Amino acid sequence: MTTYLLERAWVDGRVLDDVLVEIDGGRFTSVTSVGSTRDSRRFSGVATAEKRGNTRLTGDPNDATPLPGLTIPGLANCHSHAFHRALRGRTQRDRGTFWTWRDQMYDVAARLDPDTYLELATATYREMAAAGITCVGEFHYLHHQPDGTPYDDPNAMGKVLIEAARRAGIRITLLDTCYLSSGFGKPPEGPQVRFSDGDVDAWVDRVNAIGPWEHAHIGGAYHSVRAVPLNQMKRYTTAPLHIHLSEQVAENDACLAEYGLTPTQVFAEAGHLTENNTLVHATHLTDDDIRLIGETRTYSCFCPTTERDLGDGVGPSRELHDAGSRLTLGSDSHAVIDLFEEMRAVELDERLATQQRGHWDAAELLEAGTRHDSLGWADAGRIAVGARADLVTIATDSVRTAGTGADEQTAVFAAVAEDVIQVVADGHVVFRADDRAQLGRDLEAVIGRLWR
Ligand SMILES: [Zn+2]
Repeated sequence: MTTYLLERAWVDGRVLDDVLVEIDGGRFTSVTSVGSTRDSRRFSGVATAEKRGNTRLTGDPNDATPLPGLTIPGLANCHSHAFHRALRGRTQRDRGTFWTWRDQMYDVAARLDPDTYLELATATYREMAAAGITCVGEFHYLHHQPDGTPYDDPNAMGKVLIEAARRAGIRITLLDTCYLSSGFGKPPEGPQVRFSDGDVDAWVDRVNAIGPWEHAHIGGAYHSVRAVPLNQMKRYTTAPLHIHLSEQVAENDACLAEYGLTPTQVFAEAGHLTENNTLVHATHLTDDDIRLIGETRTYSCFCPTTERDLGDGVGPSRELHDAGSRLTLGSDSHAVIDLFEEMRAVELDERLATQQRGHWDAAELLEAGTRHDSLGWADAGRIAVGARADLVTIATDSVRTAGTGADEQTAVFAAVAEDVIQVVADGHVVFRADDRAQLGRDLEAVIGRLWR
């Protein structure tokens, strides 16, 4: 058993002082406020010192490892393409569009094999761990050899990602992605032939062979309404199921021309707007789309740092939330791996789009950043008895966070990934601040080899 005394911690929607947590078997077995927060006795979700008789607390605060700073639950990165990390600083150099960016992304995709992808993904997931991310949703479509031939193990690339997450010490939900066409009715071409299984039945057969892991869930994804025909998309579902949706106006226009339906309506028609599933981006929506998504409680995964890098636009995050959709966040193309930045960008982008402040508060955004349920891990994302023991500790005395109150405003509106000083995932320490310098050297070496 491990015991930590958290100087400040975000527990059940508020920051408390001196929270004692006990961890056994990778889960919290006790969470007790032993501090001086005025209202702690009124707080129902955590045992106060006076209520210790009602808990299984056996530790003594004097024996606990102190964790100075502000500790929050593990962050969930709900949308990732690990290999895009190699594009950072390279695709931003020239003018261009989403579509010219995509050509550069395909160039990297064409260079990777299972050995190089294991190196790159491990370094990328270590960077995530260093940023306080304890679970990643990997939207994985780089399945086959460059000419489209399956590897001897047709799931070699997916298994590499699962192994990379294990090495980094984080959980993964492999969102194995079905990709069948280049555009509406067009066969895959060039690098895209690596992505395709031919038809939806072959995709399902391959995914069913991946097998279970302790730290990994297997989910599915339809790449987009461009990449999977409606009649194929209708035939299979799985949970969780994710899709890129309405990221670009051009996709909406082509979808309307093909089906007379918006992408949201196509996904609804296929039967996939459900409370288990996630729409990634959801940027360009009609009022009817928003109503459909909200009524079905489908998740919306926003990736603001990627969406601004690609010039996608600003999606209607608050309208979606008010309609009933639940917000999650992802770093997607990894132009930045910093969920603190993603959290505040949701609010700050709304301000730019509407010329008004105050759409989201810090507590709501912290909840969005720590939601693991859309990845199938409903037992993570909170510091509570029985939950998976993930702890992300932020320095409250850095040049960015000093003087900001050491509360949820600090986490959402002041901190950056660099302020993370320790990360515990499933009860194990997976990152300490001292590891950061070596991690930088490792990323440089791995990505440098890829471009040589
Ligand atoms: Zn994506």
